[in-house]
Amino acid sequence: MLIDGAMYGGKCACGREHAMETRAAVIERGALDQFEEYMSAYGPAGRRCALYGGNSYEAAAGKRPKAEQEIILNPKGLHADEKATAAVLSRMEPQTEILIAVGGGTIHDIARFCACERGIAFVSVPTAASVDGFCSKVAAMTWRGFKKTIPAAAPALVVADTDIIKKAPARLVKSGIGDILAKYTALADWKISSLLTGEALCPKIYDMVKAAADAAVAGVPGIIAGEGGAYENVMYALLLSGLAMQLHGSSRPASGAEHHISHLIEEEPAMLKAAFPAMHGEKAGVGAVLAAAEYHRLAEVQDISALTGEYSPLPSEEIRRFFGGELAEAILRENSADCLRAVSRRRLIECWPEIRSMVAEIPPAEELSRILEGLCAKRGPEDIGIPASRLPDLLDYSPFVRNRLTLMRLRRMIKV
Ligand SMILES: [Zn+2]
Ligand SMILES: [Zn+2]
Repeated sequence: MLIDGAMYGGKCACGREHAMETRAAVIERGALDQFEEYMSAYGPAGRRCALYGGNSYEAAAGKRPKAEQEIILNPKGLHADEKATAAVLSRMEPQTEILIAVGGGTIHDIARFCACERGIAFVSVPTAASVDGFCSKVAAMTWRGFKKTIPAAAPALVVADTDIIKKAPARLVKSGIGDILAKYTALADWKISSLLTGEALCPKIYDMVKAAADAAVAGVPGIIAGEGGAYENVMYALLLSGLAMQLHGSSRPASGAEHHISHLIEEEPAMLKAAFPAMHGEKAGVGAVLAAAEYHRLAEVQDISALTGEYSPLPSEEIRRFFGGELAEAILRENSADCLRAVSRRRLIECWPEIRSMVAEIPPAEELSRILEGLCAKRGPEDIGIPASRLPDLLDYSPFVRNRLTLMRLRRMIKV
């Protein structure tokens, strides 16, 4: 399967001109055997550096792309943070013109950040169907302990070899499916914000993300049965979602309340420590189940007028108590121009019937949970190291990790 980037960029019916830097994404059995052919047809030319994690270096044995330099990072304790990027930037030869990421989400985030820093081309070789960020133009970084999406390089070309991807540990594809199930609530949040505040929403990009989520769900029985074709489906879904983010210029189409739950856990606030680490997609999948349950619960209310109040910001003492230290200061800075100020109580009441119908498009939490259960994937807070008793904290504080309007954030105005 080949996704042709030229199909997506340019002038759009929504009135915007969408930028698409990815010329092609190939998803095929044995795609890496033809890496040079794809590079000459779609990729950039120049001196290469290939970046690996220890595991992806092993996984790509016999198929590693040709490169003048190879950097292999120790996977132990490896994060997309200021330490890892500094290490790569100091080791990468100055004459490098193309950085090739061979690995999963972390290697990709490190590589796309470094490629952007150096102003060089970036090529993606995913070795697992673990996250949807491969095609995105933003890197999900942990910057001095605070989760941030930082503008970075989009890949000029993606070469996804499903022979390698299928052999990756099963936990990785389950995580990728969790990350894709997260799109249903993310899309609802985007629509709700657009309705309430006029935030730009492109129907074409919306449909791409919806198609990605549906393709991944359709691939689940095949993944359970171990069919190679299903990995192509899931990888297609992940790449499509990343392309949508690239077209929109931010993670908005693919990241809403459910991702904020995941980010909250990753940021390790003083008052909420997970008992053990989980993968990004696992947390996003659990976040999706929790957000879907809460959204459907709210949407049961027909007339919200008696249950709403004008918005009052979360008191800074409360933010300092819950998040603690420098993280609390970063959260306060993030929310200084609070996105909820744009929403009046009157507007929320007026729009409530439409918001309810937007929520109705999200699959029920039980359905999302069943999909994850069928995969033997993580589906509840306890599976990702958070006691069920902390659920109220996840819902109350997660909307503040990003100053982005979601229905979860609107709960500050609703008492149900
Ligand atoms: Zn558009
Ligand atoms: Zn994600």
